[in-house]
Amino acid sequence: MQKFIIQISIVLLLVVSLPVVFILINRTANLSENEEIVQRVFDQQLETILFTINQNSENVIVSWINQIDFDFDDKSEMLINIVDKLFQNNSAIYKISFYNADNINEIKSFSNNIDAAIDAPDRLISQKLERLLKQNYQKIEKARNGEFTNLYFMLKSGERKVIGVFLIHTATFIGQNLRPGIQQISQGRFDIGVIDSLTVTGTSINDTISINKGNMHQKDLVYFPGYSIQIKLQNATISELVQARSKQDNYLFIGLLIIVFLGITFVIFSIQKEVKLAELKSEFVSNVSHEIRTPLALISMYAETLLLKRVKSEEKKNEYLKVINYETNRLTSLVNTILSFSKMEHNKRIYQFSLIDINTIIIEVADIFDPHFKSEKVTFSMKLDDSIAGIKADKESVTESIINLIDNAIKYGKKGEKNIEIRTIAKENSLVVEVEDDGVGIAQKHFKQIFDKFYRITSGNLAHIAKGSGLGLNIVQQIMKKHNGSINVQSKVGKGSCFSLIFPQNNKK
Ligand code: ADP
Repeated sequence: MQKFIIQISIVLLLVVSLPVVFILINRTANLSENEEIVQRVFDQQLETILFTINQNSENVIVSWINQIDFDFDDKSEMLINIVDKLFQNNSAIYKISFYNADNINEIKSFSNNIDAAIDAPDRLISQKLERLLKQNYQKIEKARNGEFTNLYFMLKSGERKVIGVFLIHTATFIGQNLRPGIQQISQGRFDIGVIDSLTVTGTSINDTISINKGNMHQKDLVYFPGYSIQIKLQNATISELVQARSKQDNYLFIGLLIIVFLGITFVIFSIQKEVKLAELKSEFVSNVSHEIRTPLALISMYAETLLLKRVKSEEKKNEYLKVINYETNRLTSLVNTILSFSKMEHNKRIYQFSLIDINTIIIEVADIFDPHFKSEKVTFSMKLDDSIAGIKADKESVTESIINLIDNAIKYGKKGEKNIEIRTIAKENSLVVEVEDDGVGIAQKHFKQIFDKFYRITSGNLAHIAKGSGLGLNIVQQIMKKHNGSINVQSKVGKGSCFSLIFPQNNKK
């Protein structure tokens, strides 16, 4: 049987561990691949963000150009008004100048009350702008001058070929025009900063960036030479994120594994229990058959002898009748035990609760046992507490329990003279009935199991010394449960046992 359980355990373990090993290998192999895919997707996202930021600055500059791009007249009121407005609304614009595209002579220059010098467009710039404008493309050229950027463009409108120049204070432009958009994008998820690659100083856009550290994504700001924008995930790198995720998955996985192994242990434990029960059942059947056959054989033998009138002396006849009576009682008691157990198993036993006096029941049971006590050389004593109150209980089943305990005390008593004592004790919230013997005793390892159905202690040939079904104590335990009470045992091998029935004083039944 043990071999069968080991085989089942091995099969179950294999069934679980093979997929587990497979999943583990697969997961490890896929981890770096996943990381790469996520990194690639993320890179693309960052590129898109950087592109959007660049697009943003273009939109701002183009909107400025559009405002001043009309038939150029350096005396026009409108031009002065528009330029004034531009200066007012955009402190990044320090100067706006207009040049003749042919000879690069300055036509007109407006200053935002700040002293800064525009770099006049050179020939190359002017030719390029003109050529592209002819192709209908208004290009913006740029040239850096320290902390300033010159933005050159050719006016589309009017007959004159005029080159306009914005002198921009770069840091102010970034702060005013790019920062809000970037902050919106970052939303606490990214660190975004603009770095001046000439001086290697940076402006953190959302105040958390550590410029130029870690794996940043970088892109040049198209309209501001020497400046680039950097972006990175806040707090963690992709690889850290993927690893953290996989760590989380691992914990989940380990949790599941523990549950599965607990499940398997439970299944194995249950199988083991069922196998043990099956063993006990089969032992029970052979045991009970034997128990029935012996008294039947004796009854039939003595009855036949009496019927054939072979016994002459009255004394012998009496002796034979006593045997028949004793064996019939034994059979009845065995059959009653089995019936009682069967009823309980099918939940069919009916309990009738009423107020009972346990001392009276004990005295009645002692009366029934009197002949046995004599024949088995039992010195029986009762110490009944008069102060105990009545309890609500089912008289029949309580009587049966006490009979079972006394019967066991006789069965498992020592050879020769035996002492059995029964006591009732009133405790604060309970009433205790103790049955103590000085018999063979029970080893502590059996304390729990003796209350299991069919369980009998077979060591030391005990099963052969005293016959039984292994049901008695289980029946008592079930009865006690129905009374919201309990049964427990104290015992020492060779010294004797004491079984206690504990009834709650205020049983609500
Ligand atoms: P049975 O007596 O029919 O075997 P029980 O359920 O009444 O079944 O008892 C279970 C086992 O507990 C017995 O087989 C016996 O080994 C042990 N046992 C019960 N009562 C006593 C006792 N008073 N002294 C020693 N062993 C006992």
